[in-house]
Amino acid sequence: MFIRDGIIFRSDMLTSRNIINGFSTREGGVSTIDYLASLNLGKGLGDDGENVDRNREIFARAVSSGSVGAGRTVSVHQIHSCKVITLEEKDCGTGCYGKTEQECDGMVTDIPDIMPLIRTADCVPILFSGIKPDGSPVIGAAHAGWKGTIGRIAEKTVYALSELGCDVKTVKVAIGAHIHDCCYTVRDDFYEKVREAMGEDFTNRHIKTLSDGLMHANLCAMNLEILGDCGIGEEKIDISKECTACKPDVYFSHRASHGRRGVMGAGIMITRQGAK
Ligand SMILES: [Zn+2]
Repeated sequence: MFIRDGIIFRSDMLTSRNIINGFSTREGGVSTIDYLASLNLGKGLGDDGENVDRNREIFARAVSSGSVGAGRTVSVHQIHSCKVITLEEKDCGTGCYGKTEQECDGMVTDIPDIMPLIRTADCVPILFSGIKPDGSPVIGAAHAGWKGTIGRIAEKTVYALSELGCDVKTVKVAIGAHIHDCCYTVRDDFYEKVREAMGEDFTNRHIKTLSDGLMHANLCAMNLEILGDCGIGEEKIDISKECTACKPDVYFSHRASHGRRGVMGAGIMITRQGAK
């Protein structure tokens, strides 16, 4: 379940003795331009760079209940790929205060006090937690737009967790607010690309023509099926019920704003006191 905690939502399924997580909304930041107000976490969208860094500090403090700031977060240059990187200490602060981002769409780590930060505005933010056989935690975060979804970024992130030593049977997942099938209408070329990548049955399960005569795609259901193929059943997956495009006053939505929008964050971290 997603539970409001101040300016963020937390997935109670991923919260544990040594793991914290949070998903932002538009609320609580310092950006003042109407379409970026107020917790915009993305540069290059018309915002003042200092505002974005300050918002990132606010976000990191909210997720970590004050224990870490923006300098412990890591963002990446998201390119709708299915590339996942393993974070190290030296990556901390990437994406803010002028530190250059790597190009990829997934991050994993087993190091405490590093917060991978995924940014979205309709795409699907996915956070992961898991446990190694020795009991120590691992975490991951992924950005799944439609390209990343059918590129199986979710599966690749699970694989990266297992490469770190995580027992896949222990993996839990939280899927934050994103555009739902109610608002995610697509055209023939989209259908074709999904069919080419995933086959006709998968495509027909997740892209349906509704009573408005338009094709609606369900990105969440696509990711659920892919996670299910990895052995992660829906009982281990927390899903936000909110559609970003249905609630553009609460969430940044690319569709609802026709591209004039900020971005929200999803972050997860192993806490130092809880680490083994
Ligand atoms: Zn909607």
